[in-house]
Amino acid sequence: MGKYKRILLKLSGEALASSDNTVDPETLNRVVGIIKSVLDQGVEVGIVVGGGNIFRGAALAEAGMNRVTGDHMGMLATVMNALAISDSCRKNNIDVLVMSGFPIGGGVCEPMDHNKARQALSNGTVVIFSAGTGAPYFTTDTGATLRAIEIGAQAVFKATKVDGVYTADPMKDPTATRYDTLSFDEAIAKNLQIMDTSAFAMCREHNLEICVFSMLEDTNTLSNILKGEALGTIVRN
Ligand code: UDP
Repeated sequence: MGKYKRILLKLSGEALASSDNTVDPETLNRVVGIIKSVLDQGVEVGIVVGGGNIFRGAALAEAGMNRVTGDHMGMLATVMNALAISDSCRKNNIDVLVMSGFPIGGGVCEPMDHNKARQALSNGTVVIFSAGTGAPYFTTDTGATLRAIEIGAQAVFKATKVDGVYTADPMKDPTATRYDTLSFDEAIAKNLQIMDTSAFAMCREHNLEICVFSMLEDTNTLSNILKGEALGTIVRN
């Protein structure tokens, strides 16, 4: 058994997006491939999914909507993404449970319960935590950090379109280089935007590692990082 027994995978809504602002079936297949390769290694997987491909509260508020209502819509968008991922998991014979940060009836998903989540994870079930923290004015990065701490995960793995944290924007600066590891203090001193400030502060305080990796390349990238390969950027105390 490697260093990681239980991880929290953070998938942004954008990472799931298709051109029509919904979910892309090909991306869902890729996500299932990533989950499968991690489970095959005997590592337990919790997932927090974003909703930015559908709604973001701050953007809705800018367009004139009440911010709290906009955030409720954003959180409901994360529930839709979670249901899409759960459907793809089940089709691929992966046991999965969807929980929500606020209660939703009708058998759509279960309310967040850290004991139930821990039990399910121990049995090899993938637990998808939707609706972020369940409260407005937060992000799913903070939701991911909170759930990771609640379930006792060793790290948050943030799937992005880039393979880690760079000294500068690699799209703009060809001399930019990727960090293999970074401390929280270095990331703050260098003003590197890895997660929003509240999520970042929680990780630091609770000694929770953050690993940024690319979900676009190989579906085995995450499982290879779990095996010890330096394929992303790890931020730790
Ligand atoms: N949101 C919220 N509280 C939370 C998490 C999310 O109100 O704890 C809302 C917020 O409006 C946010 C939206 O849900 O913009 C979608 O989440 P996020 O922007 O984090 O998604 P991502 O960028 O990961 O796709």
